[in-house]
Amino acid sequence: MQSAVAYPDLIALLKAIFVRNGVREDAAAILAENCAMCERDGSHSHGIFRMKGYIDSLRSGWVNGAAVPIIEDSAPSFCRIDAENGFAQVALAAGRRLAIEKARDTGVCVLAIRNSHHLSALWPDVEPFAREGLVALSAVNSFACTVPFDGRSPLFGTNPIAFAAPVRGASNPLVFDLATSAMSNGDVQMAARAGKALPEHSGVDASGAPTTDPQAVLNGGALLTFGGHKGSSISMMIELLGAALTGGNFSFEFDWSQYAGAQTPHTGQFILLIDPARGGTTGFGDRAANLVEKMMGAEVSRLPGDRRNSARKKALENGIYITKDNLATLQAMAQA
Ligand code: NDP
Repeated sequence: MQSAVAYPDLIALLKAIFVRNGVREDAAAILAENCAMCERDGSHSHGIFRMKGYIDSLRSGWVNGAAVPIIEDSAPSFCRIDAENGFAQVALAAGRRLAIEKARDTGVCVLAIRNSHHLSALWPDVEPFAREGLVALSAVNSFACTVPFDGRSPLFGTNPIAFAAPVRGASNPLVFDLATSAMSNGDVQMAARAGKALPEHSGVDASGAPTTDPQAVLNGGALLTFGGHKGSSISMMIELLGAALTGGNFSFEFDWSQYAGAQTPHTGQFILLIDPARGGTTGFGDRAANLVEKMMGAEVSRLPGDRRNSARKKALENGIYITKDNLATLQAMAQA
C-alpha cells in the first residue's frame, strides 16, 4: 500500500526529523529538500532510505548538525570551505553565491569543501549551477569499500562524479551522476534487503573471490570499480580531488568504529564551475543542443538524466509514492 505525498509535505516531514535530531533549522531545510529531491526523482538509493543513516550518524555524535561552515576566500578562482564536521550540502549552500560570482568574474571557480559528510546523490549539487548558465563538475570520495583495479583490499570509496551543462532551448540541463564503483553502496544495501543478486563483476567476498551476493559484499567483502582499470583511475582521481586537494580525509583515512550506526563518510567534496561564455565558441548552449540532437539522431533511447526528469514531472503532478510503512516510520522519527 502506498500513499502519494506532496513534495513540499515530504520536505516538511524530513525537516522535522532533522530538527528533532539537533540539526540547525536552516541546515535541516537544506538537507530535507536534498533528500526529498532524491525521492521525488526516483534516486531511491539516496532518498528516504537514507534517513536512518543520517539520524544514526547525528545521534552517535559522528556528524555535527549544529556546524556553521567557515568560508575561506583563498584566491580569485578558489573558495575553500571548512564544513566543521557538518554536512557537505550545507557548506555548499553557504559558499554557493561566492563561487558563482568568482566563476562569472574569472571564468572558473574551484570550491573545495573539507571536514564534511555526504550521504546523498551528487546531481542536486551540480544541476542548479547549470540552470544558472554554468558548467559544473563535482566529485566526492566516500569510505573504503572498493578495491582498486588489480588490488586485493578495499581502499577507494564508491566515489561518485557528476556533471551538468546548460542546453539552449531545453527545459532541463544535461546531467549525469554516477558512482565509480560498479554500483553504489546504497544499491547493494537495497539488493540485500530485497534478497536480490548483484550483477556479475560487481564485487568480491571477504576472501577476495567474485560474488553476486550483496550480503557477502557488505560483510567483509568489497565492490569493484566500474570499467576495470578505467573506472579505477577515475576513482583514484576523485580521492585526490575530494581529499588531497580539499584537505578532507581519504576514504581509508577516518575511523568511525567508535560511533555506532555512523554511515556518513567524513571526507571532502570538489566542485568546479566554468563560465562557458569564456570558452572558444560563441554559444555553448547551442553547441550542447546540437550534440543532444545528434545523439537523438544516433537513436539513443534516452539521455542521462531523462529517467529522473520524467520521474520528477510525475511526482510533482501526482505526489511522491511512499509505502505506508515507510511513511509511518518517517512520521515516528519526527516524534522520536
Ligand atoms: P546509475 O548507474 O543508475 O546512473 C548513472 C548515470 O547514467 C545517471 O546519470 C543516469 O541517468 C545515466 N544512465 C543510466 N542509464 C542510462 C541509459 N540507458 N542511457 C543514458 N544514461 C543512462 O548511477 P549509480 O548507481 O552509479 O549512482 C547512483 C547514485 O549514487 C548517484 O546519484 C551517486 O551520486 C550516488 N552516490 C553517492 C555517494 C556518496 O558518497 N554521496 C557514493 C556513491 C554514489 P538517470 O539518473 O536519468 O537514470
